[in-house]
Amino acid sequence: MKSFNNMSIQASENKVMLTFDDGPNPVYTKEILHVLQQYGVKAAFFAIGQHVLEYPEVIREVANSGHTIGNHTYSHPDLLEISHEEILEEIARTEQAIVRLTGEKLFLFRPPYGHFDDAIVELVRQQGYTFLTWTRKLDSRDWQYEDEHVIVEYMMKRMENGGIMLFHDSSNERDASRAHTVRTIRMLIPLLLEQGYQFIDPQELLLQPRIITHSIDEVKYF
Ligand SMILES: [Zn+2]
Repeated sequence: MKSFNNMSIQASENKVMLTFDDGPNPVYTKEILHVLQQYGVKAAFFAIGQHVLEYPEVIREVANSGHTIGNHTYSHPDLLEISHEEILEEIARTEQAIVRLTGEKLFLFRPPYGHFDDAIVELVRQQGYTFLTWTRKLDSRDWQYEDEHVIVEYMMKRMENGGIMLFHDSSNERDASRAHTVRTIRMLIPLLLEQGYQFIDPQELLLQPRIITHSIDEVKYF
């Protein structure tokens, strides 16, 4: 089973991309937006439909700040465990909620837990989406580590040109704190800028989806 797709962006200079999953969240998403705004950095937010309906004003703020909103399903299921009909329903409900609230047309999709197979990729593409996971070594593991110093060191050691970083501005588990993710972003962005990295605006992928490269990884990630 192909459970994980290692993706990155073709880039000639030191360019990296920031992505946040599982929001929106009324506390952490807003704090992250503030940090991104301070540095003029654009990111992708892969939102869960349920959270979008719960915090409509937050998803509007994400859209109004010029960030890219991606579809991360309605209830965050493991897509390998549900039918294709259910997957289509998960995608459509989320899309309808976000389009209604923000007027934004969505073009990026990310599967929960990074779980999928070839048929799911095809299904998602047929809905007009570009399939985007992340760079495997740049999973910040902010769901596991809560110390921003540990996460920043881990990420800086593994940073590479074209890397797609994975963070979480919320969680499908209700009360998970993401305060450490906010602190990590606050440290990491200036550090990357100091080292000459630039941030890729995910909107670039709308015009040039072919700059996304991937390698299939047969190793189970869970
Ligand atoms: Zn997720």
